[in-house]
Amino acid sequence: MKVFFWGTRGSLPASVWAKDCREKAFKTLEAARGIDLPDADAINDFIENTLPFSVSGTYGTNTSCIELRDSQQPNEYILCDAGSGIRDFAHHHMISGRGKSPATFHILMTHLHWDHICGFPFFVPAYIPGNRVVFHGYHEQIPDAIKHQMDTPCFPVPFKYMGADIEFNIMPPCQPLQLGGFDITSIEQNHPGIAYGYRFARDGKVIVHSTDSEHKEDAYDEDYRFLKFFHEADLVIFDAQYSLAEATFTKADWGHSSNVLGIELAARSSVKHLCMFHNEPTATDSDLEEFLFNSRMYSEIYHSEHQKDPAATRYPKQVSLAYDGLEIEV
Ligand SMILES: [Zn+2]
Ligand SMILES: [Zn+2]
Repeated sequence: MKVFFWGTRGSLPASVWAKDCREKAFKTLEAARGIDLPDADAINDFIENTLPFSVSGTYGTNTSCIELRDSQQPNEYILCDAGSGIRDFAHHHMISGRGKSPATFHILMTHLHWDHICGFPFFVPAYIPGNRVVFHGYHEQIPDAIKHQMDTPCFPVPFKYMGADIEFNIMPPCQPLQLGGFDITSIEQNHPGIAYGYRFARDGKVIVHSTDSEHKEDAYDEDYRFLKFFHEADLVIFDAQYSLAEATFTKADWGHSSNVLGIELAARSSVKHLCMFHNEPTATDSDLEEFLFNSRMYSEIYHSEHQKDPAATRYPKQVSLAYDGLEIEV
């Protein structure tokens, strides 16, 4: 099972300025000073193994959209949320030539905040007759939110001009569903207006998508319901927009969570890979790299304090930070 991340920022798309690129160019040349780079292989090796990711790459700009790859149905795609990242999915789909065949696009909605729907007006496959788009979710306002964001004066092309067959599968809260060979269960999450997390299971592997979710004091309870929802997942995509200090003090009740709580919940639920998500849009690439470094440090500290047996398996085995264009295989 593979997950591809098309959009990983929270709340609002992020920006990249010319000065940011200039700074990366400067840091690259500075790091290369005195190093012999005679050919393309040497340069690629230097980029890959010497430069930090914040210099050689970027965490990206798009808001929430992930793709669960390898549906067992032909010409079927499974996406979560329709933030600005869905525009890049659509663009790659069209230029790959796959856009020539009619296809079905399932879009599971966590909730309807702007950053999770704003890409849909730019979702080219929805304008092509013969395609099918099915929104799945638990908010009864899904059809209105998707359609009305395209009304005058907010958008020039009304929803009715979308030529694909567009359906809305609005389910009773947390009703399980099956798509593309995945058994999908869900959980209600603490977020303004409620958001839902999804747990995808297939062939003994589990991926959990849990974004826009704030964990409060009950997260420390032994029977906290998320421990069961995350239990032994191969990958948990977790809303870690804030530091612990922000989540606890300045941004309490804003509906998001922290890296520290993500690590603790992943450790207590035996999660193999914790991928932090819904990145703060004002954070620079170096801010995010430092955030990841601190998170991994905290994971080490948490293990040393809570696990006296060094031979025991340590969870999470891996801590990463999502970026636009990342693919994770479990
Ligand atoms: Zn969000
Ligand atoms: Zn939200």
